Amino acid sequence: MSELTGHRIRVTAARLGLPHLAEALTDYIRRADEGKLGYLDLMDLVLSEELAIRDDRRYRQGLRLSRLPHHKTLEDYDFAFQPELEPRKVKDLATLAFVEAKANVALLGPPGVGKTHIAVALAVAACRAGYSIYFTTLDDMVRNLKTAETAGRLVTKLASYVRPSVLVVDEVGYQPLERAEAHLVFQVISKRYEKDSIILTSNKSFGEWGQVFGDEVLATAILDRLLHHCDVISINGPSYRLKNRLRALDGESGTEWTWGRSSVRMWGTARVPR
Ligand code: ADP
Ligand code: MG
Repeated sequence: MSELTGHRIRVTAARLGLPHLAEALTDYIRRADEGKLGYLDLMDLVLSEELAIRDDRRYRQGLRLSRLPHHKTLEDYDFAFQPELEPRKVKDLATLAFVEAKANVALLGPPGVGKTHIAVALAVAACRAGYSIYFTTLDDMVRNLKTAETAGRLVTKLASYVRPSVLVVDEVGYQPLERAEAHLVFQVISKRYEKDSIILTSNKSFGEWGQVFGDEVLATAILDRLLHHCDVISINGPSYRLKNRLRALDGESGTEWTWGRSSVRMWGTARVPR
């Protein structure tokens, strides 16, 4: 390769937004010589490496913008700790067919069972697959929408919750909402309905959502849209946060697990039909 040609390729690659090719040109030529690569193989190698680097950059950028509280995956989730939760159900969701179908996922259960963990793991998988993701607690979303409304910027703020392919709404039900607040939530849900996916977590059963949203009619309208296409995963089991504490108590008396479990309300595990 003449120096002039090498220089021209580097400049062209940089202008085309192929920084890896620009940097690694000499290395590519060496690998092609050593491996006796044909033209097609060399081109294939250059393009696939550039694409992999671009995908990785987009993934890391997507994670940075997502506001996820951490980046835990399903590999980090110990299914043996929640024997009532079918691993297959959760792993099926990680294939992201629900995102493709613009359907939703609801993770229900008491504190500490890993609802947020699984929601984050699904969002990380979606980000890896190239979908845009955004994480918020319900309270933060409501607070931001209210502030934007007061400042006359509601439309723009709503758009930021409507735009991502996957919106994670964490902690539905921790604080009851007022009617005007619930109406803001309704706007987000109805704008996303059948357009993009929501993954939500809640410590309340759907029957209690009337209290959460301060209005039965509004709660029904929200649930109607959310559940039309939705996989519902109920996790009924002990808190992982209390794992070590419960173990210690278990060692002392052998009855505290029963106490830990009996404090857990059981909810239906039905998958809502499509
Ligand atoms: P929830 O949202 O249901 O209250 P989290 O997802 O916040 O619970 O889980 C609490 C903590 O315990 C997190 O650090 C989470 O990663 C961890 N955790 C929960 N369940 C499991 C599990 N089965 N295996 C591994 N870590 C878990
Ligand atoms: Mg949580």
